[in-house]
Amino acid sequence: YNAALGPYKGGLRFASNVNLSIIKFLGFEQTFKDALTCLPIGGAKGGSDFSPIGRSDGEVMRFCQAFMTEFHRHIGQDIDCPAGDVGVGGREVGYLYGQYRRIVGAAEFGAMSGKAVCTGGSILRPEATGFGAVYYLREVLKHDGKEVKGIRVAMSGYGNVGWGIMKKAAELGAKVTYFAGPDGYIHDPDGVTGEKLDYILEMRAKDPMHCKPYADKFGCEFVAGEKCWGVKDVDVYMPAAMQNDVKMESAEKIAASGVKYYIEVANMPTTNDALYFMMDQPGMIVAPSKAVNAGGVAVSGLEMSQNAERLAWTAEEVDAKLRHIMVNIHKASMEAAEECGLGYNLVAGANIAGFKKVADAMMAQGIV
Ligand code: GLU
Repeated sequence: YNAALGPYKGGLRFASNVNLSIIKFLGFEQTFKDALTCLPIGGAKGGSDFSPIGRSDGEVMRFCQAFMTEFHRHIGQDIDCPAGDVGVGGREVGYLYGQYRRIVGAAEFGAMSGKAVCTGGSILRPEATGFGAVYYLREVLKHDGKEVKGIRVAMSGYGNVGWGIMKKAAELGAKVTYFAGPDGYIHDPDGVTGEKLDYILEMRAKDPMHCKPYADKFGCEFVAGEKCWGVKDVDVYMPAAMQNDVKMESAEKIAASGVKYYIEVANMPTTNDALYFMMDQPGMIVAPSKAVNAGGVAVSGLEMSQNAERLAWTAEEVDAKLRHIMVNIHKASMEAAEECGLGYNLVAGANIAGFKKVADAMMAQGIV
């Protein structure tokens, strides 16, 4: 999409519903998200309608190799550095990068991010999006004079991103008390903590389409075929599953619940009408995905830096940099909106701050 700020950068999505329109909106969003990180990365996105769900390791490897056999000529550490997105995790990135290395005949680590630590990946990359989202939430709450500790969250999704939110929330004394999957939602008033976090990884590896086994194992409520949008006994909603997850009908329930914070995590999880409706609700605070989920691509950018200097940073170093980036994104968005007389409008602020950064870099480089 845009390389004014640095090499094209974004994830690859492997899911059966992938089409050009989805990749276009993701690439457009990615450009401004990457700008918000203030790292030297441009914006891109890619993918395929091949879904790894239900495929053997061998099938996934062969698909990744075939994909990279064509794709390798378009990427490179200073050209375009893809990573993962829905359906592309450590396993897929490993197979993709292995084929890239085989074809170019060089250990050009910076050509892909999201690699396993043993092949030059950054520590904390899998957790980065979820951790970053909680760091961002902490800034929103701080702005309101509140703490993360004791906060109850309802969310959708329990993939890498959702899991990272659950883990960081538990570490900071908050609780994810509701989470929704493709088959319905779970209500666990004690929160997802400790061994439950490990069980989610196990459950997902066995069958990513059902979260009911969690309710069976831990004896909590499962509501089949429903989403948890509209529950009242939480403080924050965090949609972390897919685009267009929250439509007008859910937005009305969310507004009626009286819950104040709506923090988007998945890329564009809210339809436009639903988003504007919630932004119009007096007292409701809405945060946009391009800011909230930027921690993932930020740690991808940090992975590129580590690869370039041929060093591996510690978890503490990566985490400290991630925290700093998320605090900065919230601050830059808040200030950009204030400068335009829009008050504490995080949606407009993120758009303005991200757009300005890309536009300034493009204008500085002349008509090329
Ligand atoms: N797919 C992620 C996103 O939507 C990460 C992209 C990356 O790490 O390059 O931002």
